Amino acid sequence: MPIKNKFMKSLFDLCDTHCHLDFDAFDNDRQQVLENCQLVGVKSIVIPAVSRGSWDDLDQLLQRHASQSSATTPALYGALGIHPWFVADHSAIDIEHLDQLLTRRKPFIVAVGEAGLDFWHDMPCSSQQQILFEAQVELAIKHKLPLILHSRKSHDQILKVLRTKKPGAGGIIHAFSGSEQQARQYIELGFRLGFGGGITYSRAKKTRQLAASLPLDSIVLETDAPDMPLSGFQGLRNTPERLPLILEALTELRKETAEEIATATSKNAKQVFQLDTGG
Ligand SMILES: [Zn+2]
Repeated sequence: MPIKNKFMKSLFDLCDTHCHLDFDAFDNDRQQVLENCQLVGVKSIVIPAVSRGSWDDLDQLLQRHASQSSATTPALYGALGIHPWFVADHSAIDIEHLDQLLTRRKPFIVAVGEAGLDFWHDMPCSSQQQILFEAQVELAIKHKLPLILHSRKSHDQILKVLRTKKPGAGGIIHAFSGSEQQARQYIELGFRLGFGGGITYSRAKKTRQLAASLPLDSIVLETDAPDMPLSGFQGLRNTPERLPLILEALTELRKETAEEIATATSKNAKQVFQLDTGG
């Protein structure tokens, strides 16, 4: 059943800018999840792949979905990249392969990512992370694509790379929880900030304060499903069907109406990914 909430009957056109719908957590009910999404106003979803092993599968998933072209499910888009958690399994050969895939990419591949740096708890391979991250920023520049970035304990290092290399198509810092100063620096560099389930927790004071005060044109919505459960859903699989609840949380924090926030964040997402969905 679709999730019930007070926005359910609205005709919002929401974009989940970060959802791992290709993960096997959705293998049993992916189609049903998509149909539920459409009913609650989630009309487009961007799926960032996290490793070479998932690039072909994502391509097939998107290809299958595009050929079905149904009005009862959201539009799906993808990104190809190497997540910092998986850098140990990748090398320069994989960057070359990624370059080739991006060269002959289909229209539904709209970004490079999920890429970034993660220095949480002394994550291993920090030099390998740096090398593969910079290589992916260079691919984004070469292919004129935006980046979907993952950052933990690494905003200053990521900002340094972005400042040096200047990726012209910008991108999104997903699940942003940095400082206001870092947020402003990303915005200045042409990036948007993704807010998700984190803002549904009252203890996330700093992030909620930022989500409340940053310019609306710098914000996009995301679920990061199946990860990052919302408050009230801890321990359960997260799903893109809950994106309207993130909109609801943001509406409680900000002065604009839900409709204004829905419209603006979707417009921002479409601008970043250069999507033309006719709406
Ligand atoms: Zn992710």
